This record gives sequence, C-alpha cells and structure tokens, in this order.
Amino acid sequence: MLKKVINYDVVIIGAGPAGLAAAEAVDEAFSVLLIEREARAGGILKQCIHDGFGLVRFKEKLSGPEYAERYIQMVLKKSNVKLETLTFVIKVEKVKDEYLITTTSKQGIQTYATKRLILANGCRERTARQVNIHGDRPAGVMTAGNAQNFVNLMGLMPTKKCVILGSGDIGLIMARRLKLEGADVLGVYEAKSTPSGLSRNIQQCLIDFDIPLHLSKTVTRVFGNRRVEGVEISSVDEKMNPIKGTEEYIECDALVVSVGLIPENEIAENLNISIDRRTRGPFVDQNMMTLTDGIYSVGNALHVHDLVDYVSEVSETAGKNVGHERKRELVEVASKGCMYLVPQYIDVNSLKEKTTFFFRSNTDMLKAKVIVMVNGEEIYAKKYVALRPPEMEKISVPLKLEKDDKLEVLLSAETIDACPAE
Ligand SMILES: Cc1cc2nc3c(=O)[nH]c(=O)nc-3n(C[C@H](O)[C@H](O)[C@H](O)COP(=O)(O)OP(=O)(O)OC[C@H]3O[C@@H](n4cnc5c(N)ncnc54)[C@H](O)[C@@H]3O)c2cc1C
Repeated sequence: MLKKVINYDVVIIGAGPAGLAAAEAVDEAFSVLLIEREARAGGILKQCIHDGFGLVRFKEKLSGPEYAERYIQMVLKKSNVKLETLTFVIKVEKVKDEYLITTTSKQGIQTYATKRLILANGCRERTARQVNIHGDRPAGVMTAGNAQNFVNLMGLMPTKKCVILGSGDIGLIMARRLKLEGADVLGVYEAKSTPSGLSRNIQQCLIDFDIPLHLSKTVTRVFGNRRVEGVEISSVDEKMNPIKGTEEYIECDALVVSVGLIPENEIAENLNISIDRRTRGPFVDQNMMTLTDGIYSVGNALHVHDLVDYVSEVSETAGKNVGHERKRELVEVASKGCMYLVPQYIDVNSLKEKTTFFFRSNTDMLKAKVIVMVNGEEIYAKKYVALRPPEMEKISVPLKLEKDDKLEVLLSAETIDACPAE
C-alpha cells in the first residue's frame, strides 16, 4: 500500500556535522526533517577519535565523537527537528514547486515533500581503482577511511606491515594511528612534489612518529593473490608519470590509499544543479543556496573542508537563512590565483555586515596577498607569510554591492611554486 506523503518545511539529507549544524540553526517556526542513513548521527566524526576538533567553534580541543555529541544534544533539544536514522535517501525529484524525497528504512519506502532542501551528504574517498595501479586487488588494499573504521569503530587491526599511498590528512592520521596500534608503517608515498596534508599533520603524524614521507613516488603495482604480499614503488616525473627503471619492491600486507575526497553529489546532479568543476560541489551564494532556488549545499558535499569548525559555520549560515529567502539577484565572483573560492556568487539582496569567503591557493605561495576588488577598486586586502593548497583560508569582507557591479578576488605572491596544484 502506498504511504501518504509527509510534508516538512525543511528537509536535510545527512546528519553529519554539516546537517546537524544546519538543523540546529533553523528557525523554530519551521518543521525540519533530518535524514541519516546510519544508525547514529555524527557522520565521519564518529570514527575520528583523535583530537583537534572544535578549537574555533568551542575554543576547546575535542575528539570527533565529542564534537559531534555537542551538536547532537543541541539538535535533540529542538522540538521542531525530527531525526530519522537508518533511513537512506534513494531519490529526490522536483514535482511542480516541491521536492519529493523518497527514502527507504525498516518501515519501508516513504516519500516526503518540501520546498526547501539542504544537501549535507558529505563526500566519499577516491579508491585504489581510481588511481593507476596494476595487479590484482587482493585483501589488504583499502582506503584510509576504511582502515580508520576497522581500527577505531570495529576494534580490528587490518595490517601488520603497510604502505600508505597519498599524503592527504586521512592518510597521515592513519599512518600515526596504525603505528600507535603496533603496525610497521613503512612509509607514506606521495606522487606530488609537496605533501597534500596540513603542515600540522605532517609534523604531528609523521615527523613525531619517525614515519618517512617519500615525495614524487607512487605505487605502480600490487602483488599478492588472496592477500597483499608487496607493492612496487616508482619515482614519477613532474607530470606524475612513473619513470621506467626506478621500480623497487616493498614487502607488506596492506596498501592504505589516501588519494583524495570527492563531494558526494549524485542527488545534486540528478536535480540538474550547476556544479563547479573546481570544488566538485554546487555553485552557491553566501547563504549556501545553490543556483537552484530552495536547495542549499553545505559541508563536504559543497567542498572538502579540512576543519569541521568551518563545516559547522557554513551550515549554520544555511540553516539560519532557510525559510527567510528573498528574491535573489546574483553577482558572480571572479577569482584569480585560487584553486577554488566559495561562495562563487553573491546575492546582493541579502548582504550582511561582512561576507565570508573560503579559498585555497592554486599553488604554494610565499609573501602572498589576497585583494578583493569592486569595479576595479580595492576594498579589502590581507597578507600571508605563506599559502598552500591543502590549507583552506577564510576572509570576512565588508562588502557593499549592486547587481551590476564587478566583484573580483585576486591572489598574488612574491614567490610562486612552479608546481601547480591539481
Ligand atoms: C579521517 C578524517 C580526519 C579528519 N580530521 C579532522 C580534524 O582533525 N579536525 C577537523 O576539524 N576536521 C577533521 N576532519 C574533517 C571533518 O571530519 C569533516 O570536514 C566533516 O566531518 C564533514 O562533515 P559533513 O557533515 O559534511 O560530512 P560527513 O561527516 O561525511 O556526514 C555526511 C552524512 O550524510 C549521510 N548521508 C550521505 N548520503 C546519504 C543518503 N543518501 N541518505 C541519508 N544519509 C546520507 C552520511 O551517512 C553521513 O552521516 C577529518 C575528516 C576525516 C575524514
């Protein structure tokens, strides 16, 4: 029997830190449905048992689960928010002026209707299949997030002796974690000539634990039939192509892959929401509304954040704005020297005292400067000793703008690394 469609003022998909912060910020006057596919809210933070979360948001050093728990408690206190766990969103479609969200759960298939949708469904890890490695896929090839899940949530050790491919933050954190649990971590191998993770993680996870970092090297082959027995490492040229004759064999029982995160945007793409190829998430305005009226994108579904505190901040912005929208007039933000910049559009009808931009430089820069220009006139500038693509930066700009104005954010530096970021 077909179940009755249930209406909510706002529906949020994903109860990770982004969905939780957005739900917490929505005006009490609006009914909110927060949908989570897992048994517990908290998203990826549930498995991040290391500390370092919350320094900006709570001025405290918290573990991932502690940070998530603070938001879960805040959300549970809100009488207008209903949290549905073990509920998976399988389809979202637009019908007339509403969005119909179809879910599956123990109770069966259910459809919800709303005019305002917040996409907070996080990101996924690139797998070994998405990088060019020859050989079979025996047991022991896993993503860093999988390894983290095994060790931190399931209490299982997936390796005794491993190689880590990729120097992204999760790979660095897992190198330390596996070493602390007694594994022999032979090294972190990175195809780029500079590390991909935050500088603090290079120090605290590798240098402090004597784990070698090998730059301009990659894994080109996996050996083993049922279980990994070893990997082949090759040096790469400046275009990251393996150099013949540089191969070396390393004996190990696992290859842990940490080669990047990709915003999860299947739902957005099915709704024909415009996606920025640089962030791989939707284009948004300063309220985190996508170019499709009524649909917001927040957290790692919007772009991959390195600090959860900023995830909470932008998600709160979306939550506060939802239901208070006015007719939008958008100005596109032109940018130069950035790997990406968010928001990519400004709605001139909802400008606040300050407008926040997040950006990453497109290469390593020393003595750098960011300038914001309106109609060719500088209205804001900030200097940096150094900028690196892995470190996301935030600026808050007192912006006054009319709909035909030209807005530019320009990055420049005295010294620019010759090796551009991806
Ligand atoms: C290994 C690791 C270490 C990190 N370390 C730090 C750190 O030290 N400090 C720091 O500040 N930040 C850290 N971060 C970053 C921080 O954890 C993330 O930025 C943050 O979790 C992103 O929040 P999110 O809600 O966007 O995504 P997620 O946490 O991924 O949550 C998304 C949620 O959406 C749900 N979902 C997805 N699709 C559906 C669907 N179809 N139906 C229903 N539910 C769905 C998922 O189950 C999940 O719960 C780390 C991240 C990782 C992965």
